[in-house]
Amino acid sequence: MLLPNNPNAFTRSPLDRAGHRRGDAEYLAHALAAAETKLIPFHKNRPFVVEADGGVALGWLNAQARAALAPSDALTLFLGVDRDGLAHFAFDIADASALESMGRFDDLRSFGAILPRDDLPILGTAKSIFEWHGRHKFCANCGTPTQVVEAGWKRECAACKAEHFPRFDPVVIMLPVRGDACVLGRQPTWPRGMHSALAGFVEPGEAIEEAVARETLEEAGLRVREVSLHSTQPWPFPHSLMIGAIAMVENDDIVVDPKELESARWFTREEARLLLAGKFPGAFCPPPFAIAHQLLKSWVGDP
Ligand SMILES: [Zn+2]
Repeated sequence: MLLPNNPNAFTRSPLDRAGHRRGDAEYLAHALAAAETKLIPFHKNRPFVVEADGGVALGWLNAQARAALAPSDALTLFLGVDRDGLAHFAFDIADASALESMGRFDDLRSFGAILPRDDLPILGTAKSIFEWHGRHKFCANCGTPTQVVEAGWKRECAACKAEHFPRFDPVVIMLPVRGDACVLGRQPTWPRGMHSALAGFVEPGEAIEEAVARETLEEAGLRVREVSLHSTQPWPFPHSLMIGAIAMVENDDIVVDPKELESARWFTREEARLLLAGKFPGAFCPPPFAIAHQLLKSWVGDP
């Protein structure tokens, strides 16, 4: 896996996370007051976007605007610095009305696919961490409310001294293959005709390749004999890490678990090409934004 070759959306951030600055109060105070610092507001885990050239662009604000919009103790996340050393932050605002005339707070899932690639890892990081803060306001050890520290990257409990770090959920997503065919399934809640790779959460005590084998057997009755990791993708809905794999299986008699899937079927390489091109009658696969698309594209072998 070569770093610059990761095909997945939400990877290859243009920012250096500069983690050593998270505890540097002097640096953070200076950066939060500097005119050139860039800040993106979030409201209810939705980033602020503005109309731009018929599409959307991130609604970056400056420090002055943040000071006017949010109290000084508003949840503020240091995202890192760009190639010019310019600091970037995300901050949460409780009242969105002051910005209504300039743009809107929108669900990243609805417009992420049309944003410039470089914006996605920045927004994905901020959204995942804001989602985590929203669900972890109390100490998991003793129940006391916790405080945000380390520029938004940690919560601390004053009562029991426990430290809490942003969590994310590892998910395996795999394309079972045998010979010249692969398996895609569909869940009943998906749009009609959509077929995608199989997926499931990695469980505690389980290796990634073991999770691939277990989920493939559980969902489709297919026995995995070899796993090749393909690539990974941070997926901020709400905070997963998708681990993409090709799973070579030894049988072809699919037995679907109806609790997990509505159906699953084999597609030949040629049929997979048609799916990717949007030309397969009655079925389609996820867009390039999703790792499932990249897995399928890679297996098909097209550039
Ligand atoms: Zn505690």
